Amino acid sequence: MMTRAVYPGSFDPITNGHEDIIRRAAGIFDELVVAVLNNSSKNPLFTVEEKLDMINEIVGDLGNVEVKAFDGLLVDFVHKENAGVIVRGMRAVTDFEYELQWAQTNRVVSPDLDTVFLTTNLKYSYLSSSVVKEIARYHGDISQFVNPCIIDRITGKFSAGR
Ligand code: ADP
Repeated sequence: MMTRAVYPGSFDPITNGHEDIIRRAAGIFDELVVAVLNNSSKNPLFTVEEKLDMINEIVGDLGNVEVKAFDGLLVDFVHKENAGVIVRGMRAVTDFEYELQWAQTNRVVSPDLDTVFLTTNLKYSYLSSSVVKEIARYHGDISQFVNPCIIDRITGKFSAGR
């Protein structure tokens, strides 16, 4: 039996921590859908199209990974994709309560789905999209945090004339 998994998130933008989870999950599951949440109320820096482009560029080498946008309830998207597993990254205890609540809620709503947590690579345990944006906003160096191919796109959002 093939195991198809969904890794959902905001990816605003994708960081080295996300990339690490995607590569590891792609090695564990037969197929992986990276699902980019389309939620304008979160006031994202990047459009969904920009996010899809960036993720595709970074993990496009992985043959069993697809990148898609979704809105509405995650469990509905996971069912529509015929997937059985939700993948989330776990950085620290601070992630735990929120993630546990969602994993449990999703089990109640959809008992056929399981959430699998991958613990972060220690190298990236401090890393979040918000940190990357905050540093880029003040023109700091983000080269250790994101894939080189998207650095200009991030810094461009904070350069004059935006
Ligand atoms: P969300 O708004 O859904 O939390 P994010 O894009 O912030 O979306 O995160 C998506 C997933 O990636 C979450 O499971 C989060 O815990 C995980 N993640 C974020 N940053 C890292 C990191 N540095 N290392 C491992 N996992 C991470």
